[in-house]
Amino acid sequence: MNLTDAHGRAISYLRLSVTDRCNLRCSYCMPEAGIAKSTHGEILRFEELEQITEIAVSLGIEKVRITGGEPLIRKGLVPFLGRISAIPGLNYLVLTTNGVRLADMADELRSAGVERLNVSLDSLRSETFRAITRGGDLAEVLRGLDAAVRVGLPHPKLNMVVMKGINDDELVDFALLARERGCTVRFIEYMPTNRVEGWQERFLPAEEIYHRIACRFDLVAAGDGRSAGPAKSYRFSDVPGGIGIISAVSGHFCAGCNRIRVTAGGIARSCLFADDALDLKPLLRQGSRDDVVAALQRFVLTKPGHHRMTPDQAHHTPFTMAGIGG
Ligand code: SAM
Ligand code: SF4
Repeated sequence: MNLTDAHGRAISYLRLSVTDRCNLRCSYCMPEAGIAKSTHGEILRFEELEQITEIAVSLGIEKVRITGGEPLIRKGLVPFLGRISAIPGLNYLVLTTNGVRLADMADELRSAGVERLNVSLDSLRSETFRAITRGGDLAEVLRGLDAAVRVGLPHPKLNMVVMKGINDDELVDFALLARERGCTVRFIEYMPTNRVEGWQERFLPAEEIYHRIACRFDLVAAGDGRSAGPAKSYRFSDVPGGIGIISAVSGHFCAGCNRIRVTAGGIARSCLFADDALDLKPLLRQGSRDDVVAALQRFVLTKPGHHRMTPDQAHHTPFTMAGIGG
């Protein structure tokens, strides 16, 4: 059995959010006051998240990314990861974190079967980092990166959301960091998820991001297989390490999209920028396994061929990325 959408795309990648809460308040992701807290009963229990993962894997999902909110703040996460990493057929378990708690948890994450981490890092200047995250401590995240490497994980991929006038003067510094550490930095186009006023002015297109780096360093186009996702990847010609550019807005990567998302509240989403959603919670709580399977198979057929967002227009209903699981 597998999950194939109406456009012939095989769905093999699940982004699973385990919480909508976070210990930071990144300005591009959520309001300063945070988002309305879900009650205990609204959030799926770990057994339910495990059930979804098991069913998804039986339907051909090979890669699962744990995300949030901030996944590392949910109690009980590590044993949950240990259980799902043992599901036969799940080939690749990865996790995205802001890195705040990583120094303390890197070892147990690796032992639980997490194969790689993505860490969000939007500035290498303490003050800018603090301002973007509304209070985050850059040193803590850097300690987390070192801890990941120390316990034997590959160097985390770094995700930087590029915002004109805020951190776009650090593009070359991030490329230098990738060269120093032999790691990958992925530059993400700023997406108008919650449509903060003036988002168009903060937007820097992928082409411009590429140009600013390519005029300093010799880049060679690279594909890094199963983990490449929507990023256009390049490696440095002379040293290890590279960059990726995620052009979610200026150049859709929809044709190759193989993902679905499930929020911490059990809502399946077929596309970040489409409003269709499937509430899995009642099926998990009152239905049978077959009901969940059938509902998921029907649901992927609603996955749109592509989204309609452009550098100056957003058509979707505004949302908070932390709520959906970026
Ligand atoms: N808290 C974790 C973290 O920050 O890595 C995981 C959840 S976060 C919602 C997942 C990713 O979404 C992060 O890399 C973040 O930078 C990205 N993200 C959130 N809002 C975004 C936006 N408006 N545009 C582009 N990326 C965004
Ligand atoms: Fe939290 Fe991640 Fe959103 Fe930042 S991007 S507020 S760390 S969920």
